[in-house]
Amino acid sequence: MGPLQIKELLQQTPDAQSVTLKGWVRTKRESKNAIFIALNDGSTIHNIQAVAAPGQFSAELLLTVTTGSCLKITGQLVASQGSGQAVEVKIDDIFVYGTADVDSYPLQPKRHSLEFLREIAHLRPRTNTFSAILRIRHALAFAVHKYYNDRGFFYLHTPIITASDAEGAGEMFRVTTLDLEKLPRTDEGDINFKEDFFGREANLTVSGQLEGELGAMALSKIYTFGPTFRAENSNTTRHLAEFWMIEPEMAFFELEDNMDLAEDFIKTVISYALENCKDDLAFLENRLAEEDKNKPQNERSIPLLEKLNFVVENAFERLTYTEAIDILLKSKPHKEKKFQYPVGWGIDLSSEHERYLVEKHFKKPVILTNYPREIKSFYMKLDDDGKTVRAMDVLFPGIGEIIGGSQREDNYEKLLERVHEVGIDPETIWWYLETRKFGTAPHSGFGLGFERLVLFVTGMANIRDVIPFPRYPKSAEF
Ligand code: ATP
Ligand code: MN
Repeated sequence: MGPLQIKELLQQTPDAQSVTLKGWVRTKRESKNAIFIALNDGSTIHNIQAVAAPGQFSAELLLTVTTGSCLKITGQLVASQGSGQAVEVKIDDIFVYGTADVDSYPLQPKRHSLEFLREIAHLRPRTNTFSAILRIRHALAFAVHKYYNDRGFFYLHTPIITASDAEGAGEMFRVTTLDLEKLPRTDEGDINFKEDFFGREANLTVSGQLEGELGAMALSKIYTFGPTFRAENSNTTRHLAEFWMIEPEMAFFELEDNMDLAEDFIKTVISYALENCKDDLAFLENRLAEEDKNKPQNERSIPLLEKLNFVVENAFERLTYTEAIDILLKSKPHKEKKFQYPVGWGIDLSSEHERYLVEKHFKKPVILTNYPREIKSFYMKLDDDGKTVRAMDVLFPGIGEIIGGSQREDNYEKLLERVHEVGIDPETIWWYLETRKFGTAPHSGFGLGFERLVLFVTGMANIRDVIPFPRYPKSAEF
């Protein structure tokens, strides 16, 4: 079906067999003895080199073969004369599908800044960097499904539109079909959502967890992998307004099991990328090394592959929130008042604290557990002391929080008490509460932000560069 991809052609043994290439021109180079066209179809980071003799084609045709133009080339696959590649194609014929005007095509064969490429997100997948990222992103997504499928988890499709705002009060995107110019009003003068599409207020989901739990209480082990939306106005390098989240939810898993799963899961999908994305990772590693050349020695990063292998091969450090606070209180930056935010039992750790623990103190991924109940969600299981909950956050170097999870509160009375405490109207999540009334069981789960994983694996610095079309405040162009 369809033509062979360039990736497949590059692996063939050259025997002057006839081949057809379809792809976009990366570069064209003319020398005295030959014309070289580097063609790429996105199947691999590598271009295929096609060679024509001078005078074989009209000057008129060759003028339309420029960076960005799309060609069909027929020719013969032969051993390459040059040193850069094993095979090349001796061109018989060129057909130009689409030209790309040199003066207006924005991608020229030179290094463009990532900020500039964000402005041309419709074309950036044609660059080496973005095509590598997108292929790695694909491989990781595939590895996620494979991981759970291999272990008896069922892929549960939780809703994108939700009427409960239990999780995301204040940071949700509203979904409505009401006419904003003529909002229906109640007698009291409030907006009458009874007239809205669902007969009530609706939003885009911030997490599939609550529904995921319903699935786990029937299928035992489920996972979700879908888009989530947060209208948080956080212009950081780690937040998107639309991102993909993987949320496994398991009946009969306690906090320890949950941590074991999270660690094994991350290591397994990173290993998959290491094995299946060698060329793209090597390209990105080089790219980072090039960037690092301009930095002072002590600011240079660990080579990408070394960093990934380190994470796969070493046990994550596990400690409680309380132990982490002790370490922070004894730390140099705390004593020297270098932290921007204060440290003390009860604080919500900020990313400078998390990064100190991971990057300076332990120098490896960390799983923090048993956070104060006040700073965590209502559904987390209370510890026996009543002060902390069975939460677990996985913290990664350069990223901070990559996973947030917990054992869930399975006791109806305790859960209801927490619901009241945080001011949620139990009526709005009656269905969630009922799982604790009918056949409750210990269960656990977590959420992994897919883009934060891609960020880590690709070594990129900004989360806007690891999703094809990023959504963030004031940006939804493409
Ligand atoms: P943070 O403190 O970094 O904002 P969070 O506590 O809001 O994270 P959770 O609600 O626990 O995060 O969501 C689970 C996971 O989803 C996080 O560990 C993170 O990997 C990812 N995540 C959360 N918010 C975003 C976002 N705005 N963009 C991308 N990924 C996100
Ligand atoms: Mn957040």
